[in-house]
Amino acid sequence: MSGPRVLILGGTGEGRRLADALAAVAPDAHVTTSLAGRVANPATPAAGDVRVGGFGGPGALAAWLRTHRIDVLVDATHPFAATISAHAAQAAADSGTRLLALRRPGWPADPRDRRHPARSLAHAAAMLPALGGSGSRVFLTTGRQGLAAFAGPELDGMHFLVRTVEPPGPPLPRSTHVLLDRGPYTLEGETALLVEHRVDILVTKDSGGPATAAKLTAARELGLPVVMVERPPVPEGVPEVPDVPAALALLGFGASGRM
Ligand code: NAP
Repeated sequence: MSGPRVLILGGTGEGRRLADALAAVAPDAHVTTSLAGRVANPATPAAGDVRVGGFGGPGALAAWLRTHRIDVLVDATHPFAATISAHAAQAAADSGTRLLALRRPGWPADPRDRRHPARSLAHAAAMLPALGGSGSRVFLTTGRQGLAAFAGPELDGMHFLVRTVEPPGPPLPRSTHVLLDRGPYTLEGETALLVEHRVDILVTKDSGGPATAAKLTAARELGLPVVMVERPPVPEGVPEVPDVPAALALLGFGASGRM
């Protein structure tokens, strides 16, 4: 008998690790990882198939699930990839496919943090003038999308160090220095970067995970304020797990490799 057919919506380390873990515990499972196709050289799992590009909306995703006879859909996308998560919830409901969200937890607050929660990128931008005057230097690590929120004339006097994997497009803040890099990052490296660029304020999304957490420790040790954009919620009713072992357990894959 052939094993379950699984589609993982990926683009994250968790998605890659789940594909590889499924291959190890359930060798007869058929696993496909789906990537959006945003970056030129994406990291891919060692195991299973990979498909690249959008599906064309929730209806088309539902059709894909039916055509490929998918038993389980795992939404392992980035916590801030809210559109695809909403599409996954709708497509799973429409096609009668089991859905599970794999979301790494957000970064826990430390009492020594100078953390300022923001509801959105626009809210984060609106908070900056109160945290630093004209001439302040802001380290922006919110990704290349949505930088327009920081491009308004109110922030023209601030200097932005923007770190992204792929080059960001306009509109960008008037004074922007782009740093192209991809984690994981070390505490030594992040501290050196904050000192070298004389950063006054860090802006980040609450992405969670160890790969990009060092900037928070570095900011804490340097006493810098951190504007933290809060996560969008997982669509209602979708079961959520924090890591790969919990996903395997919920899917019924024991250490023996049987369902
Ligand atoms: P998004 O805004 O939620 O999704 C926009 C559209 O991109 C979706 O409607 C879908 O197109 C397509 N898409 C997204 N993820 C896909 C996937 N895994 N496979 C196939 N199509 C996908 O997504 P986003 O925030 O741009 O993120 C894109 C990808 O980058 C995600 O896979 C995410 O895991 C990864 N990523 C995102 C962030 C972030 O901060 N947002 C950070 C790191 C990695 P259709 O409607 O045509 O199906």
